[in-house]
Amino acid sequence: MTRSIPARAARRVLWSLLRSRAKTSPSQEDLSAPALFLSPHKDDETLGAGATLLSKVAAGAPVKILFFTDGRNSCQGLMSPRELSALRTEEALAAGSKMGLGKEDLIFLELEDSRLEDFHDQAVQGVLAALEDFRPREVYIPYKGETIEDHLAARRASLEALSRAGRPVRVHEYPVWFWFAWPWVTIPRLALREKPAWIFSGLASGFRLLLDFNRLVPTEGLLERKREILACYKSQTTKLADDPRWTTLGEIGDGAFLECFFRAYEPFHSYDLSPSTEETLDSKNPPLPAEINKEEGVTSAPNSRKGS
Ligand SMILES: [Zn+2]
Repeated sequence: MTRSIPARAARRVLWSLLRSRAKTSPSQEDLSAPALFLSPHKDDETLGAGATLLSKVAAGAPVKILFFTDGRNSCQGLMSPRELSALRTEEALAAGSKMGLGKEDLIFLELEDSRLEDFHDQAVQGVLAALEDFRPREVYIPYKGETIEDHLAARRASLEALSRAGRPVRVHEYPVWFWFAWPWVTIPRLALREKPAWIFSGLASGFRLLLDFNRLVPTEGLLERKREILACYKSQTTKLADDPRWTTLGEIGDGAFLECFFRAYEPFHSYDLSPSTEETLDSKNPPLPAEINKEEGVTSAPNSRKGS
């Protein structure tokens, strides 16, 4: 984490406020509900919801993960697309095994990463097939405030498939690149004139955190396993090529970004989708049409990393 005193203070205040208003103890019924985790890239499910997934497996819940993309473009020019895609699938299988999931619990759509939006129809069909086959009561999807286009494209495809499936389901949106903002991450090399904009966007993300996130799942006793599972994604956590272009998750924000996923709680923006009303049952959350607004929350990523 960053050692900046204002950033540390801001984080402490935001987490304290969030803990005071969000639901922090999922019921046994919640934990044992069949769940489908929808992951844009092979590692997002672990980063954003890995401890929650482990809690559910421990509670005996049937769990499946659907990966949208193949990862061929995550380290462009450093490994052939085919090699990289195969490696990332191997990594996901190893991670799944450590979670207690078998091959049959993992679904790979293998769509091209960095341009998932171009494969929207295939993505919707893939999610729809998984929903029909598995009939989960909970679905985990990327958070609407993500800053990576593949994550937002995965969310749009997920919500469209859920709408077409037409069954009531509890949705939990998990953040990944949302954390790439002040005060969670500071960029020491940022030019002075750029710092106000960075801090302003960070304050906006702080307000968004408090407004949107309403469910905190405790990670106590699970973080070591979460780290071990994340380590299965070797292409994302270690340098497989001696080249500065091969960026690891641990290098982003001098390590502060990665530590965002190892806190006392995993936060979620949670709501119920009901086909009869097409509205969330939680009045604090917007209705479905707003959830699938293509323009909503789309911003350019503050870095060029494509793999996570
Ligand atoms: Zn990702």
